[in-house]
Amino acid sequence: MNAPLSLEFFPPKTPEGSAKLRAVRQELYRLKPEFCSVTYGAGGSTQTGTFDTVAEILNEGVAAASHLSCIGATRDRVREELTQLRSMGVQRLVALRGDLPSGYGAGGEFHYASDLIAFIRQETGDAFRIEAACYPEVHPQAKSPDSDMQAFAQKVRAGADSAITQYFFNADAYFRFMDEARKAQLDIPVVPGIMPITSSTQLMRFSDACGAEIPRWIRLRLQAFGDDTASIKAFGLDVVTGLCEQLRRGGAPGLHFYTMNQSAATAELCKRLGMI
Ligand code: FAD
Repeated sequence: MNAPLSLEFFPPKTPEGSAKLRAVRQELYRLKPEFCSVTYGAGGSTQTGTFDTVAEILNEGVAAASHLSCIGATRDRVREELTQLRSMGVQRLVALRGDLPSGYGAGGEFHYASDLIAFIRQETGDAFRIEAACYPEVHPQAKSPDSDMQAFAQKVRAGADSAITQYFFNADAYFRFMDEARKAQLDIPVVPGIMPITSSTQLMRFSDACGAEIPRWIRLRLQAFGDDTASIKAFGLDVVTGLCEQLRRGGAPGLHFYTMNQSAATAELCKRLGMI
């Protein structure tokens, strides 16, 4: 039996981007996602775009999750957002701290994602299923792997129902994270976040920013392909299919695809995995 899959999009900035994303979604709905989530720019920068995209997905008859980040936010603003999301019929949130662009003072009334999760539970009870983020390769700002596991524990205790990981290319990091979470009696489902490899420069840039490790053997091969995008994509499909197979064999409860608003790589991965 296939484990569920979910898809992540970001809110488009232009009407052309919105039209393209609509077409991408129609392609990917063939995969029968459990839900589609839409990212939210820290500081509320994409709020309208995020909520509009979530509303479109709901109108298309598919379950939608809104990401919500709390850094720099006030309780009043989050309360209003929760009211709006409930009135739209949203039942699932991905609750995050977020990262403010450098130059912004943090301010705000929330420090960590666990504060946001506790607030959502306090304000709305069980109205939302809450997803938290977690980091098999350890969040880049964490003081230590143990303190990052403590941060995950706080999110679970605050009321997270399940979690989605930052992407990674080393399945052992996920399995070790799961072992440690189980030892700490953190038994919520943790769904691996999967990043398709379609561009070498984009992947290097994202990975440097979010602390995801690109193993040396992958990095060197990507560099050797230079501008040969066909070879990068073919290699990326092989690598990521292998990763997903390992994760599914090892009991991952689902797969969450960072689609980057593109359909081809995610659709081909799911085809190779027998998920269509
Ligand atoms: P937290 O859980 O608050 O952790 C942040 C850091 O603080 C960690 O280093 C943690 O170890 C530490 N920490 C937590 N609690 C404590 C404590 N009590 N004491 C000391 N240290 C503590 N970003 C966006 O802006 N928008 C998005 O839509 C978005 N979607 C994402 C979806 C997923 C699935 C993932 C994995 C990440 C996403 N991000 C998004 C990125 C995320 O916002 C960043 O990784 C951010 O730096 C951390 O967010 P968090 O919710 O994990 O924070």
